[in-house]
Amino acid sequence: MPDSTGVNQPVFLSLGSNLGRRRSNCLAALEMLAKVEGVKVLKVSPFYLTEPVDYLDQDWFVNGAVKLETRLGAFRLLQATQAIQKKCGRKANTIRFGPRLLDIDIIFFGDQIINSAELTVPHPRMHKRRFVLQPICDIDPTVVHPLLGETVESLLAKLDPGSQRMVPY
Ligand code: ADP
Ligand code: MG
Repeated sequence: MPDSTGVNQPVFLSLGSNLGRRRSNCLAALEMLAKVEGVKVLKVSPFYLTEPVDYLDQDWFVNGAVKLETRLGAFRLLQATQAIQKKCGRKANTIRFGPRLLDIDIIFFGDQIINSAELTVPHPRMHKRRFVLQPICDIDPTVVHPLLGETVESLLAKLDPGSQRMVPY
């Protein structure tokens, strides 16, 4: 598997769950992440209850984000997050964007740009998703999207204000 070494820049992950004990699933994921060798959790966002966006006929999600630093490359980090999803009981999904016990997405990996079959970074839909942008903005509004050249704060401000309801959880 191709890989590069870890970046000396912050990495942001998005966490989400809309099945079972949603908040506990996210907290369990954070605990497991903190134990991954070569990963240091720097900051965790507040959590939100968020309206589903792509596939609407499902429960609201609990979402949050985490800032970390790592000496792992992006693909190794993806392996680690997928192992955590599995441990948290996630089965292979039948419905795209459908219900899940735990979803961990790599949103930014420093300013690296990655386009491969198994990994696209920055996450290709992040700039349209309030449930991703808001928690990252809570951690650091000045983070710049390396392709769009805009801060997460400015991307968030562009979303239709009435869309994608969310409330602090
Ligand atoms: P989604 O999060 O888009 O609803 P999944 O969590 O089911 O979908 O992910 C499906 C696949 O997306 C994973 O097998 C993974 O290889 C791939 N993938 C591509 N880019 C990313 C990324 N930035 N973070 C996490 N997974 C990614
Ligand atoms: Mg995912």
